[in-house]
Amino acid sequence: MAPLKPYWKQPSHPDVQDVVVSGADFMTKSLSKVTVPPFGLFAKFEFPPCDVADKATYATVQMGKDEHLNLNSDLLYINHSCEPSLHFDMGSMRIVAGPKGLRPGDELTFFYPSTEWDMAQPFDCFCGKPTCKRVISGAKDMPFELLKGLWLNDHIHDLLEEQASSQQYQLGSVPGNDGGVRSAQLPEAVLNGRAEKLNGTDANVDTQGLGLLRRGVTSREMSGEMGGDTTVRV
Ligand SMILES: [Zn+2]
Repeated sequence: MAPLKPYWKQPSHPDVQDVVVSGADFMTKSLSKVTVPPFGLFAKFEFPPCDVADKATYATVQMGKDEHLNLNSDLLYINHSCEPSLHFDMGSMRIVAGPKGLRPGDELTFFYPSTEWDMAQPFDCFCGKPTCKRVISGAKDMPFELLKGLWLNDHIHDLLEEQASSQQYQLGSVPGNDGGVRSAQLPEAVLNGRAEKLNGTDANVDTQGLGLLRRGVTSREMSGEMGGDTTVRV
């Protein structure tokens, strides 16, 4: 992440975390100082230093449908990756290793949409992993295909289910309703894939690349297949 002037005593987690500042742009990242078995405990979210936040910011983690915490520690320097080394498990308020476990020197990362439903500013991901999603936003605006099979917190699963059922309702009752336009940030490959799928089912949708964007097919619409219903009704 971009540099940030810490207002807490550093290092906050000296036994487990090394914060590294590198490059001309002074980007920060975190490395593990410990060995942790798969799904083993790396650190806990403790209050303090954490405290409850009124709303989501760059320095918060979402811990429930409407609840956020301020990290107030070096844990803020754990970057996003599409193949993360850590899971932020907000149900147990623990940070645990991913399925590969952790070794000293491994970069500490987690998958931002696994906790965050809404993100003010989507960003381009350069994690370099084979499964990189390229554009990262809150889970609300991620195409469902890109979240499938990934570890997500319960509040994200619950919100995705609510989104899917509300979308099905909208498709059935408000013909042509575009909803919010978020698709401009979606990876092109996803849009193309979606365009192909929509092509056979929806004669009113302009399926020619950017035309699809301009009409504003939302990620909600595009995630309408979540419940296994592949028919798009207009
Ligand atoms: Zn990535």
